[in-house]
Amino acid sequence: MYSIYFEKHGGSENLHFGELPAPEPGPGEVQVHLHASSVNRLDLWVREGWPGLKLPLPHIPGADGAGEISAVGDGVDIAIGQRVVINPSLSCGACERCLAGMDNLCSSWHLLGETMSGTYAEYVVVPVRNVLPLPERFPYVNAAAAALVFHTAWHSLITRGRLLPGETVLIVGASGGVNTACIEVARFAGAKVIVVGSSDIKLGLAESLGAEILINRTSEENWSKAVYIATGKRGADLVVDNVGATTMMHSLRSARKGGRILTVGNTSGAQLEIDNRYLFGKHLTVLGSSMGTHEDFRQVMTLVLDKKLHPALDRTYPLSDAAEAQDRLARGEQMGKITLAI
Ligand code: ZN
Repeated sequence: MYSIYFEKHGGSENLHFGELPAPEPGPGEVQVHLHASSVNRLDLWVREGWPGLKLPLPHIPGADGAGEISAVGDGVDIAIGQRVVINPSLSCGACERCLAGMDNLCSSWHLLGETMSGTYAEYVVVPVRNVLPLPERFPYVNAAAAALVFHTAWHSLITRGRLLPGETVLIVGASGGVNTACIEVARFAGAKVIVVGSSDIKLGLAESLGAEILINRTSEENWSKAVYIATGKRGADLVVDNVGATTMMHSLRSARKGGRILTVGNTSGAQLEIDNRYLFGKHLTVLGSSMGTHEDFRQVMTLVLDKKLHPALDRTYPLSDAAEAQDRLARGEQMGKITLAI
């Protein structure tokens, strides 16, 4: 099968387009003939590698995917040709956490494309419980664009963050995949959304998705003060900060007394320096979150497939141009999700 793979960690010049053997489904698994994938920041981190990461090489990146069932393993009852979208959160299905419905806390949890070969390929194999049927006319690209980011946004805001109608949510970052999904999920939940972004063009995208208060952090360096003023000197009930090192102190300042800080990533760096007085003095709760449960995936993707939530789409590249697609994400030029047509 044709795929994008790397044999050593480093820059995007290490991504090769060529043929590798197609994976075959084992018991309880399905082989999906992929038609679309999408590019996530995770793919860049995995390609670059980190201390202690030991991947079997060559490695195929990619967490998101949509396509049709092309083969099934023993004990699987699903039709060949069924259109599906993939939940990239892989769990054992048998441990205490999985049986309690908290499968993203599974003791042997894996993410497709991170520790397992992923979806930048013609075929991928996943457990049958990780595919959701796709309606006949729903585009593969839209499904692949939505899966990881809406799953992440739903689990963090709704399941972890317990977001309530009428609350004020501050989202730090306007145009990335998870942030655009967070804007939509927060609006769907009945919250008021403030977005801090780096340019008016990116804030324009946030506004088109439903953000009501827009703050440009390039012209408004002290943006936590702008949030304070915009909320009637109250602060935001919930702050979503996936930027990390450069923004977390502003986020702590922007939260109201008793507020929650949600983080699912750190695009500007992982080492945070914070003033602890904000945590205890303002009674703040910090919530970490990663991916979501099978139930979260089913709930949020049902809303996406019903067109109640819409993934913001940036460019679509052919699979062979995955390096160019990743470089666009690394430069931060994207307006929504970058996708790959396979
Ligand atoms: Zn488990």
